[in-house]
Amino acid sequence: MSRGSGPLVFLGDYFIWRQTQIWRLPLRVRLPDGNEIQIADGSTVADVAASIGAGLARASVAGRAAREGESELLDLSRPLPGDCELSILTASDDDPDSLYVLRHSTAHVMAEAICKLFPETKLVYGPPVEDGFYYDIDLPRSITPDDFPRIEAEMQKIINEQRSFSRFDMPRAEAMSTLRDEGNRYKIDNAERAEGGTLSFYVTGDERGKYFEDLCRGPHLPSTKPIKAFKVRQVSRSYYRGDVNDQPLQRVYGTAFFKKESLAEYLRRVEEAKKRDHRVIGKELGLFTISEQVGSGLVLWLPKGTTIRNALQDYLTGEMAKLGYELVCTPQIGQLGLYRTSGHYPYYEDSQYPAMFESERGKALQSAVQLAQRFERLQGGERKKGEAAVAAMLAAIQEAWGPVAGLSESVELDETIVRLREALISEPGYLLRPMNCPHHISCYAARPHSYRDLPVRLAEYGTVYRYEQSGEISGMTRVRGFTVDDAHLFCTADQLPEEVLTTVQLTRKTLETLGLTEYRVRLGMRDSRRDKWVGSPENWGKAQDAIRTAAVASGIEFTEEAGEAAFYGPKIDFLVKDCIGRTWQLGTVQVDYNLPERFDLSYVGADNALHRPVMIHRAPFGSLERFVGILIEHFAGAFPLWLSPVQVAVASVSEKSASYARLVYEKLRQAGLRAELDAGDEKIGPKKHRLRSAKVNYILVVGEKEAADHAVNVNDRDGKTIGTTSLEAFISSCRAEIESKGRSGVAA
Ligand SMILES: [Zn+2]
Ligand SMILES: [Zn+2]
Repeated sequence: MSRGSGPLVFLGDYFIWRQTQIWRLPLRVRLPDGNEIQIADGSTVADVAASIGAGLARASVAGRAAREGESELLDLSRPLPGDCELSILTASDDDPDSLYVLRHSTAHVMAEAICKLFPETKLVYGPPVEDGFYYDIDLPRSITPDDFPRIEAEMQKIINEQRSFSRFDMPRAEAMSTLRDEGNRYKIDNAERAEGGTLSFYVTGDERGKYFEDLCRGPHLPSTKPIKAFKVRQVSRSYYRGDVNDQPLQRVYGTAFFKKESLAEYLRRVEEAKKRDHRVIGKELGLFTISEQVGSGLVLWLPKGTTIRNALQDYLTGEMAKLGYELVCTPQIGQLGLYRTSGHYPYYEDSQYPAMFESERGKALQSAVQLAQRFERLQGGERKKGEAAVAAMLAAIQEAWGPVAGLSESVELDETIVRLREALISEPGYLLRPMNCPHHISCYAARPHSYRDLPVRLAEYGTVYRYEQSGEISGMTRVRGFTVDDAHLFCTADQLPEEVLTTVQLTRKTLETLGLTEYRVRLGMRDSRRDKWVGSPENWGKAQDAIRTAAVASGIEFTEEAGEAAFYGPKIDFLVKDCIGRTWQLGTVQVDYNLPERFDLSYVGADNALHRPVMIHRAPFGSLERFVGILIEHFAGAFPLWLSPVQVAVASVSEKSASYARLVYEKLRQAGLRAELDAGDEKIGPKKHRLRSAKVNYILVVGEKEAADHAVNVNDRDGKTIGTTSLEAFISSCRAEIESKGRSGVAA
């Protein structure tokens, strides 16, 4: 029973509780303001809130307890886990954790509503996600947007009943037998994978058996009352555990906020984002395409998109030249051994294109792995048949190439897969590269280095491949092949601070040049309480100092997050806000002690001895595909002049000015501007309309008068007439605008 939120009803329970207090020490709880309070062991989050004030107790919805570097969210009615730092979460749309609890609770309400409307529904899994929540359901009937109002109405009824969310724990064996009686395979599977001796359930109400209940770790709101604004938003297909060979499911998305205004603002942003969708604009403006014939997730840059990409690359290449970078070109595949050394293979195998084995034995073993995986997912008789098929294949492989270590008839399928993978380790083959680092390391290692050569800064617009799940692929932002504006810097430990600082400055300058001026920086640091880190604590100390010093020196707003480092070193991530308030993780700078070690890199120091260099990985754009996708949405297709695929268009008023229009067009092209000509018979109004929709920066209207005066009438793409000027003056102001990346020019 809850001791905090309700009175202590049962005297026996109270007596036991009092008794335990005699020998239990009080808990020490540190609050966000730095104050520490002591409270009886067994106290709940609600008890702490009440001890601080009645107002806070009323406003609170959950707690966040941090202990030994781990932070956990708790129901108000849950006892504190021990001495801890505790934040009381209130009904705030600004706190992601408060929203997490709200949205997860709303997911239960939506699940109940769907089950009520469609009783044959089998619930699968319903987590909060960025911007909302979803629930995967197994239901033969398709849910459509027409059903959303009905579902929402049913949800509102549940919310109006102001039901509590109550948790109860059940011993694992009892819980499993209850779930088996219910017969929902997904819940049984979820429960089997959950840890611990007890399993927790949440009832949307105060009594078991009477209300909706769901297997869940929590936490939840104290009741449905704080759910003030919610919406069912979308439905899409998904697969159980993301496996396209398993049961297709329906994923119903919703969102929720504590305040109605927050929901309205969110929906406005979604509408705005839809108008700016890079997939739509990219098609309208002819920037890129994706062909089913080429493959999903593989972006084809069309000429206009390529112009934007090249302009970005030219800009960055120019900046890098000033900073002493050198460009390299390396192949998009490499031997498996290279990635075994780097650690990219086989550990990230699931997100890579399958390895291309060269030897017949390698190919046969790889096929056997795939066959075994196919049948491992099945149960009963089908699995038995599969096991026989795998055994036959293995017998044939061993007949042809000799025994495979560790394999025998009695080995289970999962064990078979492990053994086959071990056997594959010595087989030669290639991998489409998932990262550029190993190639750049090989460039560095191509000759000996002295400390005088360092830093060596190798850059490449290097294309890499990742095999994203088909459900995850979308436009330019979630793809299977992309180009990183990659560079790897090899330096001495002493040079590290300065190199980190210049990479941070380069990233800032790049983002700001593109008008992405609102950002913050996150420093991912090591958490000394965990031991997943490679490299000595001393090196880590130096690297962390280096990135902290760089962040301070460049005067940016930053936060440090312990435990967020890469396992090989600390990193800096740029979190950039676009013009409609969405946050994107863009540029990254990472310090690495691991790869120089794995590849045994060295340089000769001033002492004539061999030393290990430190590596920095950095990419201001990240991926060119994703970055341009984000830019298309940020600018809504209206690119600044220096990036624009078509900068100027010349439109003739009538046949009489057509030859002058042609002359102007030729002069613009000779001046190096990207120009287009419309000297057709159409009226000037529709011509201007078409060119404005094509987001051409400047439209030069030329009639008989302009031809006589050797002038042009300049219009912008918003429909504003800038004025009549000489062609030479227009060209030179365009050049100024391009040169200054939009800070001065034609319209200024
Ligand atoms: Zn839940
Ligand atoms: Zn790298």
